[in-house]
Amino acid sequence: MAVRLGLETPIKYIKGIGEAKSNAFARLGVETVYDLLSFYPRGYEERGKTVSISDAFDGELCSVIVTVRETSAVKRLRGNMTVFRSLVEDENGAMELVFFNCPYIAKTLSSGRKYRVYGRIRIGHRGKEMVSPKLEPIIKGVELPYYIPIYRLSPPLTQKAISQAVLEVLPLCEAIPEPLPESVRTSHNLIKQSEAVRIMHVPKDEKELSLARRSIAFSELAVFRLALCNMRSNTDRVKAIPLGLKNVGSKNFLESLPFELTSAQKRAVKEIFSDLGKDRPMARLLQGDVGSGKTAVAAAAIYLCVKNGYQACMMAPTEILAAQHKKTLDKFLSPFGIRTELLVSGLPAAEKRRVREGIADGSINVAVGTHALITEKTVFNNCALAVADEQHRFGVKQRAELLSKSEIDGRRAHMLVMSATPIPRSLSLIIFGDLDVSLLDELPPGRQKIETKVVSANDTEKVYEFLRKETETGGRGYVVCSLIEENEENSDRRSAESYFAELSNAVLKGIPMGLMHGRMKPAEKAEVMNDFATGRIKVLVSTTVIEVGVDVPEATVMIIENAECFGLSQLHQLRGRVGRGNKRSVCVLVNGGKGEDSADRLKIMRDTSDGFKVAEADLERRGPGDFFGVRQSGEFSFACSAISDMTVLKETDALIKEIRENPNDPEYRTLFDSAKKFLERTGGGLTVN
Ligand code: ADP
Ligand code: MG
Repeated sequence: MAVRLGLETPIKYIKGIGEAKSNAFARLGVETVYDLLSFYPRGYEERGKTVSISDAFDGELCSVIVTVRETSAVKRLRGNMTVFRSLVEDENGAMELVFFNCPYIAKTLSSGRKYRVYGRIRIGHRGKEMVSPKLEPIIKGVELPYYIPIYRLSPPLTQKAISQAVLEVLPLCEAIPEPLPESVRTSHNLIKQSEAVRIMHVPKDEKELSLARRSIAFSELAVFRLALCNMRSNTDRVKAIPLGLKNVGSKNFLESLPFELTSAQKRAVKEIFSDLGKDRPMARLLQGDVGSGKTAVAAAAIYLCVKNGYQACMMAPTEILAAQHKKTLDKFLSPFGIRTELLVSGLPAAEKRRVREGIADGSINVAVGTHALITEKTVFNNCALAVADEQHRFGVKQRAELLSKSEIDGRRAHMLVMSATPIPRSLSLIIFGDLDVSLLDELPPGRQKIETKVVSANDTEKVYEFLRKETETGGRGYVVCSLIEENEENSDRRSAESYFAELSNAVLKGIPMGLMHGRMKPAEKAEVMNDFATGRIKVLVSTTVIEVGVDVPEATVMIIENAECFGLSQLHQLRGRVGRGNKRSVCVLVNGGKGEDSADRLKIMRDTSDGFKVAEADLERRGPGDFFGVRQSGEFSFACSAISDMTVLKETDALIKEIRENPNDPEYRTLFDSAKKFLERTGGGLTVN
C-alpha cells in the first residue's frame, strides 16, 4: 500500500526501508521523514577534486580518473579470502587497484573502461596501489557528483542504503517550515531552510555547501538560544526555598575539610551560598577542569541545604561515579550527622526499597544516584537542592528535567550542574545561556603534572615497552583508540579489538588486560572498570567510554592511539584519567596523521595542561562545531555542528538581542514557535509559557 509521505511519516513507509533498516535508523535517532532529512552527512568525500597518479602521494586519500589496462585472475588466499588486482593508468602514470573478496568487480573491470576511483594511495611492492577503492564508471553525458555524502551508520545500514532513502524523500524538503523571517534571511545573507536542507545531501560545490551549512547553523542556533532564554525567564518567575546561612555553622564545615579550599573554590562557594539564600531557584553551572575539586564545593552546598532542614540529591551519569560520590560525601558530611545513601539500580531490591523509604520519609538527608533513578522514580520528602555531575555532558534535556522534577508546594529546588569540560567563555555564554556560571580555574596545590609526549605511529614499540615496565612496578595504564572494530571506511584507524588482540599476543603478553567499548552493556563495563580499579587488570584497552570513568589513582600511563582523530578538549579529558595519584604520570599521544596540522595540534597538548587554554586552542583551530557536536552526547545535538568559525554565533547574538527587545513583533512568531517546539522535544516536563 503506498502511503503519501509527509514530514511526520514514519520512515518505514519509505520505499526500500524494512523493519531492520528502520530499527537501525531508530538507533541513529531517525524516525520520521523529517528526521531523515535533518540527518545531515557527517562529512563528504570530495571526489570531484581529482589528482593524477604521479602526483598522488603515499597515504593520500584521493580521487583519480583512470582507464583500466589489465586485470589479473581472481586468486585464492588463505581461508576464504580472494584477491585480484587491476592495472590502471592515466596520462602520466600507472597504479594497481587491489580488491579483496570482490570477485564480481573483477567481472566488470574490463580493459579500456574509464572510472573515477577513490581511495587511499599506498606504495606496495609493485609501486603505487589503491586498496579497495570506490569505483564510479565514467559515462558520456552523465556528470558525476562532486561531493559524495558520508552518513553515520548503524548496521545493517550502508552508505548506499541511506543515500537512497534520502533521495527518495528529498523532494519533501519543500514542506520544511521556515523558522526565520525573510528580513532576517536577507540581512544575514541566508537561504531558506528547505533549500539548505536539500543542499546538505546533494551539494553541487563548496560554495553552495557552506551557504547551506551557515543557514542551517544560524537558524538552529537562533532557535536554541531563544529556547534557553525562555527557560531562563521561566526559572526567574518561579519560587524556591531560600536556604539561609544563619545558625548552620557552615564555617565549621569548611574548616572540617581535610584541605584548605583554593581561592577559586572559596569564590564558587560564596556565589552558590548567595544564590541559595534567595527565593528564586539557583540555576548555576560549576565549571572546572578535572581534579579542580568540584565535589567539595557541591558538598558545601549540600551541607547548607541539609542544615536548613531540607534534603538534597546528587546525580551522576554512571553507577560507578555515583558510588564514588556517595563515599566522598559521606566522608565530608557524616561527621555532622548528615545521612547519605546510594541509590543505584545495581542494589538488591530490598535495599533499594529501604533507601526509597528513607528518602520519602526524610530520614535520609542526601540521596546519591544515577540520573534515571533519581529523576524518574524517587519521591522526596523535601528536596531543596539538586546537584548534577554531568562530567562532560550538559544536555539541555537533563537540565530541563531536573528543573521540573523537585518541587515542594509549588516551589522549585535549587540546581547546581557540574561540568568538567572547560569551555571557552565566548561559547559557554551560548551553550549555558540559561545558567549562571562559577568557574574553578585553579587546581589544588601539589598536583602532579602529567607529562605529555607526542610520538609517531612508528615509535609505538618503545611506548608499549614502557607501559609493560610500569605495570611490572605496580602501575596501570590505559590504551585508548577511536573505533570499536575494523571497518572498511576507517581501515587506517585501528580498533580497540585489534589492539587488544595484538597487544595481548605480543608486547604485553602475560599482562592481565581488559577490553571496554561502548557497545558493551553497562554491567559488563562496570565489571571491567572494577577489575581495573582493583588491579586485577593492569592494562585497559578501550574506546573513549573511559572518559566518564572512575578515579584509579594507580593508573599512571595513558596511551592514545590515532590521537589526531580526537578534538583537543577530548584529549584533555582523556588525559585527566591519569595523574590522580602521587606517582608521576605520562600521557602518550600517538600521531597517526600525516600532515603538519595534526602534529601542530598535538604539540598544544604537550605544552599546555590548562583545560581552558586547550579549549581555546581547540576553538581557534577546529571551530565551535566540536563543542556543540560530539560533546552533546546525543541528548540533543546541533545537527549542523560543522560551523567552522564564530561569526555565525556572533551574528545570532545580535538577532537574539533584537528579538528580546521586540518580543511581540509578529515577524518573530515562527522563531518563538520553533523555540517552543525545541523545548518540548528536549525539555520533557518543562513548562513553556
Ligand atoms: P573534580 O573537580 O574533578 O570533580 P574532585 O572533587 O574529585 O575533582 O577532587 C579531586 C581531588 O582533589 C580529590 O581527591 C579531592 O579530595 C582533592 N581536593 C579538592 N579540593 C582540594 C583542595 N582545596 N586542596 C587539596 N586537595 C583538594
Ligand atoms: Mg568529579
